[in-house]
Amino acid sequence: MNKKLISFVVPAYREEKNISLFYDEFKKTFADLEGKYDYELIFVNDWSPDETWAEILKICEIDPNVKGINLSRNFWKEIALTAGIEHSLGDAVITIDADGQHPVEKIPQFLDSWKEWYDIVYNKRPKTEGATWFKNFSSKIFYKIYNAVSDFKLEEYTTDYRLLDRRLVNNFKKFWEKNRMYRGLTDWMGFKKKALIFDAKKRLDGGSSSYWYKALYGLAVNSLTSFSVFPLKLVGYLGFLMTFIGSILFIFVLIDRFTINSFNFSNITGILLVNTILIGIVLMSLGLIALYIARIHEEVQARPMYLVDEKINF
Ligand code: UDP
Ligand code: MG
Repeated sequence: MNKKLISFVVPAYREEKNISLFYDEFKKTFADLEGKYDYELIFVNDWSPDETWAEILKICEIDPNVKGINLSRNFWKEIALTAGIEHSLGDAVITIDADGQHPVEKIPQFLDSWKEWYDIVYNKRPKTEGATWFKNFSSKIFYKIYNAVSDFKLEEYTTDYRLLDRRLVNNFKKFWEKNRMYRGLTDWMGFKKKALIFDAKKRLDGGSSSYWYKALYGLAVNSLTSFSVFPLKLVGYLGFLMTFIGSILFIFVLIDRFTINSFNFSNITGILLVNTILIGIVLMSLGLIALYIARIHEEVQARPMYLVDEKINF
């Protein structure tokens, strides 16, 4: 019987202390699976300023199943994941963090669900234990805003610890947008999904996430603009509101002026209101034009998503 190949995609940024710890834990877990599966372990170094790449090279030397991709600059986790997935050959791909927060001992569960017939198996957290108040609060707010304004709803508390069947991976390669959210895109694809509920662990090096604070903001803005054009629509809505309120007030002023005249409005009031209505109409049109421009802008950016500096063991 042919053994199935499982690709593990591990994005790494400032993980010099974690790479070898992660590898050891991974080997321990995979030892039990070796009879059934082959593996390739793809580390994607997201241009870390520390010794992360050197650590990856060391492991590549002793284990030919370990592969390294060094990106040409820091492209952020979403793109690092993409680069790894695009280079993978496995029948299934598992994306997992390098810092140990995604427990490797759950890998067999992912594979079992995959074998059952699921195409996409993802980790969902009951709650983020040990996470700061800020992180819990901000992720809650993020999902609230996101789901309120975007056309496609995201499931809350899911993570990037996921298994994708090759069918999904092949489809994933067709996405070309640069402002991307891995979780959102894989959710969007549909297929047969299963959630595995378990919590994140502490980081192997005991340090704190380098990524969260900068990423939360970037991800929120990116995902808002990539799945919806809400910020642009907002201008249009504002215009609509101004026109609407302006018109009502204008009618009120007209009626009052030509009947009981209780407020004694001057002509200036009327002129101001007509102005407001006109500005509103202009803003509405701007919102509409912005929508078209956004579409065009998304289409014409033909830059590559990422550049690779070096590849090892491919
Ligand atoms: N990461 C990356 N590029 C970045 C930041 C982070 O590839 O610019 C990697 C990081 O090495 C880790 C994963 O993405 O494997 C998640 O990052 P982190 O642990 O900092 O975030 P959190 O645990 O808060 O999701
Ligand atoms: Mg982490």
